[in-house]
Amino acid sequence: MAVVTFDQVSKNYGSFQALKPTALEIRDKEFMVLVGPSGCGKSTLLRVIAGLEEISSGSLYIDGEMVNQLSPKERDIAVVFQNYALYPHMTAYENLAFCLKIRGMRKEDIHTIVLETARMLDIESILGRKPKDMSGGQRQRVAIGRAIVRRPRVFLFDEPLSNLDARLRGQMRVEIARLHKKLQTTIVYVTHDQVEAMTLGDRIAVMNAGEIQQIDTPDNLYRYPCNKFVAGFIGSPIMNFLPGSVRKEGTGRLLFDIAGSGQQLDVSHFPALAAFDNKPLSLGIRPEHLLAAPVEGQAHLVRWEVDLQFVERLGHESFAMTTFFQHPLTARLPANTPLTVPSSISLYAALDQLHFFDETTGLAIR
Ligand code: ATP
Repeated sequence: MAVVTFDQVSKNYGSFQALKPTALEIRDKEFMVLVGPSGCGKSTLLRVIAGLEEISSGSLYIDGEMVNQLSPKERDIAVVFQNYALYPHMTAYENLAFCLKIRGMRKEDIHTIVLETARMLDIESILGRKPKDMSGGQRQRVAIGRAIVRRPRVFLFDEPLSNLDARLRGQMRVEIARLHKKLQTTIVYVTHDQVEAMTLGDRIAVMNAGEIQQIDTPDNLYRYPCNKFVAGFIGSPIMNFLPGSVRKEGTGRLLFDIAGSGQQLDVSHFPALAAFDNKPLSLGIRPEHLLAAPVEGQAHLVRWEVDLQFVERLGHESFAMTTFFQHPLTARLPANTPLTVPSSISLYAALDQLHFFDETTGLAIR
């Protein structure tokens, strides 16, 4: 059992506030992922849990016990860092056994735990090797193993896979998900990688400038981003944004004017937009929701005549980079879509796939 609770916890470095007062509850056995751009405070939040950074204000609790004053050791937490931090002069076996030895555990018990952990991580065959004789993936497994043998209340992972190549990352991602199922321990996991965040997290906290923007399930973050920042951060390629404003006609109809295009979309079925009459807004549409042809029988489609400028062909799909009156629009299209550069093409989107944001506050309008 391990619930981690932030009660208005903040962290300052001198006059710079790296973590603004934060309220957050990480549930027991939850896999919580922290994502956000470089410098947004992800590692700071993690280090605060680990006790590696002193809290500037607020209280941090683990299972209801305030831990502000507890040393990292006393918190019963294990951290896996990006750079592995293995003892170079020790074999994998000795690296795994080290902390158990310090705890004074019996040799036979240590042996049992080390072997069981090595089996779990598929590193039995390299237990006699020193870190310099291991691949990056093997080192990372040993580093994870060293955290597992301690049976901590909480695992903290700080970008553990970012030194690995793409294939190995994919493999380790699946293994970490499996390990979490097996160990049933609370995990807090920092990453830059959206795929890791979306596939591993029970919930994801999206951070920006020292602040959590939204905490939600991967699906909800994708479908219902609370603001323009989250909308633009989750998803790849990123969401397209078209600036414009809403006008209410005498008839009650709501029209969205896309800036500089002369195009007006009937958005009457987004009644919440009525409150934003003539205010600067953004329309958001994800690249995968732009289609090269209308879907038969689908009513309420938006059509954009765009200039195709560039195509990225990925084999199974293509990213079409286009412009609509100077506004960039990227579409994620099936590989067999005929695309000639340069040319004019039509892109279609279902009205219910559109998102709207208040440009002043950035908040989503629902
Ligand atoms: P990255 O993804 O690049 O690792 P991050 O989101 O993990 O970034 P943090 O390492 O938490 O970001 O840093 C948050 C902010 O705090 C950054 O602006 C960073 O420069 C600053 N910072 C971090 N540690 C210190 C420190 N010891 N002294 C001063 N500023 C710091």
